[in-house]
Amino acid sequence: MNAPVPNVPQSQGCTNAPVLVERGQREVFCGLTGIVWLHRKIQDAFFLVVGSRTCAHLIQSAAGVMIFAEPRFGTAIIDERDLAGLADIDEELDRVVGRLLERRPDIRLLFLVGSCPSEVIKLDLPRAAQRLSRRVDPRVRVLSYSGSGIETTFTQGEDACLASLVPTLPAASAQAPASLLVVGALADVVEDQFARLFAAMGIADVRFLPMRRADALPPVGPNTRYLLAQPFLGDTARCLEERGAKRIAAPFPLGAEGTTAWLQAAADAFDVDQELFDKATAAGQERARTATARHRERLSGRSVFFFPDSQLEIPLARFLANELGMRLAEVGTPYLHRQHLAQELALLPAGTMLSEGQHVDNQLDRCRQAQPDIAVCGLGLANPLEAEGITTKWSIELLFTPIQGYDQAGDLAELFARPLVRRTRLEV
Ligand code: SF4
Repeated sequence: MNAPVPNVPQSQGCTNAPVLVERGQREVFCGLTGIVWLHRKIQDAFFLVVGSRTCAHLIQSAAGVMIFAEPRFGTAIIDERDLAGLADIDEELDRVVGRLLERRPDIRLLFLVGSCPSEVIKLDLPRAAQRLSRRVDPRVRVLSYSGSGIETTFTQGEDACLASLVPTLPAASAQAPASLLVVGALADVVEDQFARLFAAMGIADVRFLPMRRADALPPVGPNTRYLLAQPFLGDTARCLEERGAKRIAAPFPLGAEGTTAWLQAAADAFDVDQELFDKATAAGQERARTATARHRERLSGRSVFFFPDSQLEIPLARFLANELGMRLAEVGTPYLHRQHLAQELALLPAGTMLSEGQHVDNQLDRCRQAQPDIAVCGLGLANPLEAEGITTKWSIELLFTPIQGYDQAGDLAELFARPLVRRTRLEV
């Protein structure tokens, strides 16, 4: 249950706004999708989906570009014999993992990723991971998490993956100096930019989760302050708090406003001098404002409708409304974590129509009635909406593209401007 949120003035923005809660048919991808960006992030990890041919097909098509590279994901197929209980699936899994690690000595961290089929047959992957960890090369750690599509949305795959890593992080002692842990997968280029900004602000001990290499696990303890870089990490946050870490409340680093407020929250937690903070961030703020101004003219006054998909909807809506002058027809999110989103809700224009969960038919009706200039939605809804004349933006693209931080603010604005320009050209 969401507890009351401290430190947010109750009259601000959408803090107390009513939310339309809907339950019904949903149109979302499953958590396996997270593998597409996570396998690029942890460079010596491998994601072994224990699932069906459908699961294999999903990640192969989602990550099709990797066909030329040495893949760092694969699927152990559960077939009819396994489903009928005719085969010893533990033995099969051990054989597949043994073969994989023999062929790929570069793997240091192996995730067994559960799916709908593995859950249906009640395959105990946490136990399999423990068993394999003891058996395989001692340099390889084996963990498990679920990417199943039952009752989840696609970004929850990252949450489940990071939550599975937290118990393996080394303990930082209670005497250790305060450290900052940035949580949520960011493109390397974005991570490097943030590391430079934190260094310029004088915050010395900064680590990132997920880490780039399996053996670079960040320590965690009572003096760890963590800053969420993504809004969909509820389970990971809970696991970190069980290890004693404390969350720094902040909006998310999208656009100049979000990035500055996110960095400021960390600066306040580490007592960074305001003058030093302003000096460290001034050039970035200026670059972000200049880059977004180019798109403001095109986007200002246009309307946007968010279908619930990635859980990035509320920070994106705040960016589009406050920095680009767009009108928010409806902002739908699969799940609204009021505490983690408190600062974002306070920044959203008052009166924004918010919805949580999905009843896809009802929501499509509202979208048709609103006739937005652009709808942000999952792939399954994009084609039908385009056929009805509504311009769309795939929400999944916002996970595959570096969008956080000052130097990506212009690119983020362009992601919304481009489909509108394309539609105008088509209409000429
Ligand atoms: S995990 Fe479930 S929803 Fe995802 S591809 Fe496999 S069967 Fe489909």
